[in-house]
Amino acid sequence: MLGVQLRARGIVDERVLAAMAAVPRERFVPTESREEAYADRALRIAAGQTISQPYMVALMTQLLDPPLGCRVLEIGTGSGYQAAVIAAMGCDVLGVERLAELASSARERLEALGFGARVEIRVGDGSLGWAAGAPWPRIIVAAGAPSVPDELVAQLADGGRLVIPVGGRRDQELLLVERRGPKLVTTDHGPCVFVPLRGAGGWA
Ligand code: SAH
Repeated sequence: MLGVQLRARGIVDERVLAAMAAVPRERFVPTESREEAYADRALRIAAGQTISQPYMVALMTQLLDPPLGCRVLEIGTGSGYQAAVIAAMGCDVLGVERLAELASSARERLEALGFGARVEIRVGDGSLGWAAGAPWPRIIVAAGAPSVPDELVAQLADGGRLVIPVGGRRDQELLLVERRGPKLVTTDHGPCVFVPLRGAGGWA
């Protein structure tokens, strides 16, 4: 996975590669998909949701570029895999997941793998961000939004980075939004396919 799927496609951040090597992805997929855990694609998890393709997790984490000890807001925790990768880089993650069922299994899984102290998971509408922890130096969204939600921009710290798929219901472009004082600089990092971000700042 590291060589063929990640390095060869431009994942160069050694901290990201080390974190991806350290997190056992097979523990985040349903038992019947264990053999495919490291395949080059997204896999189904519970409740009709997906765990993102390894390359997409790596690319998003590389764009997020969280320094050691950074606080990260993650929207759409799903299986908890992306949260574990960020925690393995020595960051503290607040994950927001709208489906209680997924949140509780992710919580248990992360606890069992020793990430419990670094990851906290809340159930709620993450399209509204998490105001109590704002401003956030880093925000990562693992579901596709129709546009960049205003609340996420409002909660992004100066010098902060927001990584989010934006576009249609079926496919999106991966955007990086950087705040530089009053200015927002947005760059496009290519096409991607995510489940829809639901809620007040997402799809109905
Ligand atoms: N990062 C996850 C991928 C999860 S797929 C992983 O590594 O496994 C996207 C997730 O976003 C789904 O679990 C879905 O329930 C959740 N989601 C969609 N809209 C949301 C919202 N408004 N707030 C929080 N979670 C949301």
